[in-house]
Amino acid sequence: MTVMVDIRSVHKSFGSLEVLKGIDLSVRTGEVTVVLGPSGSGKSTLLRTINHLEKVDRGAISVDGALIGYRRSGDKLHELPEREVLRQRTRIGFVFQNFNLFPHLTVLDNVIEAPVSALKRPRAEAVESAHRLLKRVGLADKADAYPRQLSGGQQQRVAIARALALEPKLLLFDEPTSALDPELVGEVLDVIRDLAHRGTTMIVVTHEIGFAREVADTVVFMDDGRIVEQGPPGEVLERPREERTRLFLSKVL
Ligand code: ADP
Ligand code: MG
Repeated sequence: MTVMVDIRSVHKSFGSLEVLKGIDLSVRTGEVTVVLGPSGSGKSTLLRTINHLEKVDRGAISVDGALIGYRRSGDKLHELPEREVLRQRTRIGFVFQNFNLFPHLTVLDNVIEAPVSALKRPRAEAVESAHRLLKRVGLADKADAYPRQLSGGQQQRVAIARALALEPKLLLFDEPTSALDPELVGEVLDVIRDLAHRGTTMIVVTHEIGFAREVADTVVFMDDGRIVEQGPPGEVLERPREERTRLFLSKVL
C-alpha cells in the first residue's frame, strides 16, 4: 500500500504559542483518516500545513511523494518556490466548515472557476465535468442557482463538487458539518461516505463519531498539539487506551 501523506515530527508555533508539538502521521492512499480532538488542539492548523496554507517551523510533510517543508533544528528550511506550492495545492481539495463559496457566482460557475482559471481547462470541458459532479452530489437541478438560494447542506455539497473539480489526489475536510442544522448533516455525510467508497484519500476533521466509526480506516485523537493515540475506529473509539481520549469521547458521544 502506498503512502499519500507522510508527516514527520512537524512543529508549528504562532508567536510563543506552540500549536503543533511534533506530529507524526501517515495516511495511506485510498484510506479515510478521521481526526478528533477538542477545540484548540491544532486540528485545523494540521490540515492547513498539509495544504501549504501554513508553513511548518520544523519537520517534514510529503504529499504523494513531493516534499513540502523540511527542517531539522538548526538547519535551513527547504521551501518550494511559490509556483510549485500553488501547483501542489491545486491537487489537494479543501472543504471548509463555512463552505466558502463565491456568493456572486452561480453554482456552476463556482465549480468551474478553479479548473478554468488555475488549470486552464477549456470551459466547455469544465462545464461538462461540473454537471457530472453536481449530479453526483445530488444537485443536478441547482447549476444556475446562487449560493444564497441554497440550504447550508446544499452549499456544502457544492463546495465538495468544487473541490472534486480539480480531480484532487487528496481531500481535506475541516469540520464539514459543524455549521449545519442537525437535519442537514446527514446529506453531507452521505456524499463524503460515497467518496470513501470510491477510494478517495481523505482526512476528515469532525465530531461525528458515528461517521468515524463507520467510514474511518484510522481514527486520530489530538489534544494540545499532539497525537495522543491513533488506530482503527474499533480500538480508538471502543477501547481507547488514553484517559484523555476517554474523557473527550464521553463528552461528544
Ligand atoms: P482546532 O482546529 O483543533 O480547534 P486550531 O488549529 O484552529 O485548533 O488552533 C490551535 C491553536 O492555535 C489555538 O489556540 C488557536 O487559537 C491558535 N491559532 C490558530 N491559528 C492561529 C493564527 N493564525 N494565529 C495565532 N494563533 C492561531
Ligand atoms: Mg478547527
